[in-house]
Amino acid sequence: MSRSDLGNLSSNRPSLVELYQLLLSHYGHQGWWPLLRLGASRQNPTARGRFTWYHPDNYTIPTAETDIFEIMVGAILTQNTSWENADKALGNLHLNGVMNIKGILNSETDQLAEIIRSSGYYNQKAIKLQNLAKILYRTPISKLASFSMEDLRSFLLEIKGIGPETADSILLYGFHLPSFVVDTYTRRLLLRMGYLDSSATYKTIQALFHSEIPKEESIYNEYHALIVQHMVHVCKKKPNCGDCLFQATCAKVIPPSPPRKKSRKKKTTRKKSSGKK
Ligand code: SF4
Repeated sequence: MSRSDLGNLSSNRPSLVELYQLLLSHYGHQGWWPLLRLGASRQNPTARGRFTWYHPDNYTIPTAETDIFEIMVGAILTQNTSWENADKALGNLHLNGVMNIKGILNSETDQLAEIIRSSGYYNQKAIKLQNLAKILYRTPISKLASFSMEDLRSFLLEIKGIGPETADSILLYGFHLPSFVVDTYTRRLLLRMGYLDSSATYKTIQALFHSEIPKEESIYNEYHALIVQHMVHVCKKKPNCGDCLFQATCAKVIPPSPPRKKSRKKKTTRKKSSGKK
């Protein structure tokens, strides 16, 4: 059993620990963060994504600076878009030979924007990537790896184009630091299941996870990925509650609609023509 397994379930209404355990036993290890170089492994438990691949139950990845850089780039590319669109853009950066700090710095901004077009907001994202590359050129990833979690989070949040969700994704998946990632999926799931009210901020949601879940990188890694998996496939904008493992305990479960009654066709009687002109 890996550290990402938290032991046995205990009660009917899931605590956040139990919610995690239920998700993990239902969907299995998700293998985040997917990386281009793992293409040969042909593993994708998420059934999403095209170019990049996964490493289920292996939390030692990433180790190389090139991997960490790819995760930082991916975290920016996936802002306000699906992972499918972001990983097409990552694949294009790779195909164009610019998936590295110098490659991004030396590209014309409009050419870079064209390469990452599939990720949406590509002009803004090209500027964000060049900004990130400029900063990493001055302060290399190897130096960032020696920062404390708090210092690195503050450093990342100072970078234009990096907000709390992107910063936490980079800390957790790039630098193996236990900072829980809160995204719209997390908020929607917790709201629907009755753990939050709609006024909860990023900070309060993150604090809730930090106080209830052991501060283990592997657990935070898996938990966020599992929430995404559940929300993409089942608890969508229009939730598919009939297929949901939480339907017995969820506050917002939508019961299946009753079968439609067959509408009776009105009998139409045609008047016989009298034949008169
Ligand atoms: S029961 Fe429905 S609303 Fe609740 S978590 Fe499941 S899919 Fe979402």
